[in-house]
Amino acid sequence: MPVAHVALPVPLNRTFDYAIPENMVLVAGCRVTVPFGTQKRTGIVVSIDDTSELPLADLKTVQEALDSTPLYSASLWRLLLWAANYYHHPIGEVLFHALPIPLRQGKPALLSPQSYWFATEQGMATDLNGLKRAPKQQQALAALHQGPVLRQQTTELDLNDSALQSLRRKGLCDIRQEEQASSPWQNMFTLAQDRLRLNTEQAMAVGAIHGDDDHFTAWLLAGITGSGKTEVYLSVLENVLARGKQALVLVPEIGLTPQTIARFRERFKAPVDVLHSGLNDSERLATWIKASRGDTAIVIGTRSALFTPFRNLGVIVIDEEHDSSYKQQEGWRYHARDLAVWRAHSEDIPIVLGSATPSLETLYNVQQRKYRQLKLTRRAGNARPAMQHVLDLKGQSLQAGLSPALINRMRQHLEADNQVILFLNRRGYAPALLCHDCGWIAECQRCDHYYTIHQRQRHLRCHHCDSQRPIPHQCPGCGSTHLVPVGTGTEQLEESLAPFFPSVPVSRIDRDTTSRKGALEKHLEAVHRGGKRILIGTQMLAKGHHFPDVTLVALLDVDGALFSADFRAAERFAQLYTQVSGRAGRAGKQGEVILQTHHPEHPLLQILLAKGYDAFASQALAERQKVMLPPWSSHVLIRAEDHNNQLAPVFLQQLRNLLQASPAADQQLWLLGPVPALQPKRGGRFRWQLLLQHPSRARLQQVLATALVLVNTLPGAKKVKWMLDVDPIEG
Ligand code: ADP
Ligand code: ZN
Ligand code: ZN
Repeated sequence: MPVAHVALPVPLNRTFDYAIPENMVLVAGCRVTVPFGTQKRTGIVVSIDDTSELPLADLKTVQEALDSTPLYSASLWRLLLWAANYYHHPIGEVLFHALPIPLRQGKPALLSPQSYWFATEQGMATDLNGLKRAPKQQQALAALHQGPVLRQQTTELDLNDSALQSLRRKGLCDIRQEEQASSPWQNMFTLAQDRLRLNTEQAMAVGAIHGDDDHFTAWLLAGITGSGKTEVYLSVLENVLARGKQALVLVPEIGLTPQTIARFRERFKAPVDVLHSGLNDSERLATWIKASRGDTAIVIGTRSALFTPFRNLGVIVIDEEHDSSYKQQEGWRYHARDLAVWRAHSEDIPIVLGSATPSLETLYNVQQRKYRQLKLTRRAGNARPAMQHVLDLKGQSLQAGLSPALINRMRQHLEADNQVILFLNRRGYAPALLCHDCGWIAECQRCDHYYTIHQRQRHLRCHHCDSQRPIPHQCPGCGSTHLVPVGTGTEQLEESLAPFFPSVPVSRIDRDTTSRKGALEKHLEAVHRGGKRILIGTQMLAKGHHFPDVTLVALLDVDGALFSADFRAAERFAQLYTQVSGRAGRAGKQGEVILQTHHPEHPLLQILLAKGYDAFASQALAERQKVMLPPWSSHVLIRAEDHNNQLAPVFLQQLRNLLQASPAADQQLWLLGPVPALQPKRGGRFRWQLLLQHPSRARLQQVLATALVLVNTLPGAKKVKWMLDVDPIEG
């Protein structure tokens, strides 16, 4: 009797066996409905044979087959099965994670009609000048005069939904649904005429990637900020598309701006699909299906776009490969960059990892000759490198966190009608509220962490668990009303700048000012209109944006980053510093970078400023080798949480014993813990961790595999919440 081994989206690392009825045809990778407990669930057939650990007569039967062909492409299927194993994550959760939501719900894998906005006859005949008083409507109708617009493209084109609805009420436009026909873009594809002439380094990079005969090579494109990496991607894609193959481009979470998308769309006469947060579930499904049929030439998206199936994938590009948003930090903690390299290898296609500040992992792989490096050392066009200065804050009297020398330099840049970036990686008004009389500090009880003051919203907020409470008027300790904010956040900086530069517009770009949909675009638009302006921002500002009018970048307070307990802190700071300072002087104007610190002598600053990121990275890599930290060894982090600060360490100690008893455990296995996590309390839970380290990734995997089979037999396992992070990047 044939038996289907079915994966279900449950947190158990196993499949479930079902008998296949006689007249049902099933293949691996298809969805089925099966009885599970008292419910009916959608599952995915992982394999079929005629064996089961249960007596065959006891098996329940598959109720329905939902697909006749596998949902996953062959390479995606290999990737997911491998990844579930590597990350020791339940196979059902992994397979479901890779599907668009309608497919997880058991809906058919079919294209539903797409919605278009179009101008009605009356709308076409309407004079745009008549809408002068409603500029948003005017802009929307102007766009529709050019032709219909897909609903999912309205955000990219900056068309305002309520403006479209107003036009619709006036009968000037309407929305229409249309079946999606497949478009044979391959036959119509032509090379772009009006592209930039590549400089020598760019041309050599494109030639090397193209010349490798389409086979797997992992390329590191190490190009300083503004060196024209995106132009290289575009030319590489052009070569791939010209051969009728498709391309996948991954960008960091924050990198999916309308400008980026526009650069890809403008360049190619081929369908570019973008997986951005404004899409609804059926639009995501449509992109997924179109890519798998070969109807889409390019898919651009963040981390999870990696799981798009392609009919004929020709290249993968990962922009800003060092960016931490490629690592999923909850549930299945995969690293999209690492999985992308695996996928490219298994499909035997090239992959390009681009960055101005490559991760130490990637540089290590270059050293080991697993990846090949291409360098862009000069800024493209006529942009020059920025000048860098350190301002020693010791003994200086600061105004709004700014030293007098910095205020002076800001004046000069602004008077020349240029823009200035003030970088402060701390959002909110102030990072703490202190009682001046007794020293009490407002603290989140659930996290043992200071509350941040958010003045405009009039509350205290915990940046760890997001809990909020009103700002108190009286100290709960001594009753004093003399409560003072300590330190400066971006909100306060914005407020206190005003008197110094009364006539200069300020854009604050942080998570608080950009949480509403479209808000980031609004800010960026204002910046791109040009003219003098001060930009205040957190690390959101460091990523990928091209600000042609910015000539001065100042980092206001970096001392916290210089003294951290995390061994990755130096790498993160070096990347952040290099990326932020890369925003200065991008379009032919001389840029300047100013760094304020109390520790100008700090070795990290010395090497970064004097020699640059590459020198920093080689030194950091050598230092990590001395102590055998990653990438010279592999890490797995196991974290457990409890409510009483006792069960978690007990469980981790039991697990530690189990790991040590593994037949694969040898002298080189190093176990650290149980110890409290770097952030020992969060949301009312106490957090403990156990770190595993081994020079051999394969050996570490063996130790884990043998121990995890037994983990549920540990008495502590059921009493705590625990999770596993393979190749962690935090903690
Ligand atoms: P990166 O991605 O490395 O930061 P971009 O590709 O965004 O750099 O290029 C930075 C700027 O330089 C852009 O305005 C781009 O149009 C311009 N640029 C890139 N390549 C060239 C070139 N070969 N000639 C002239 N300008 C270029
Ligand atoms: Zn007090
Ligand atoms: Zn909290």
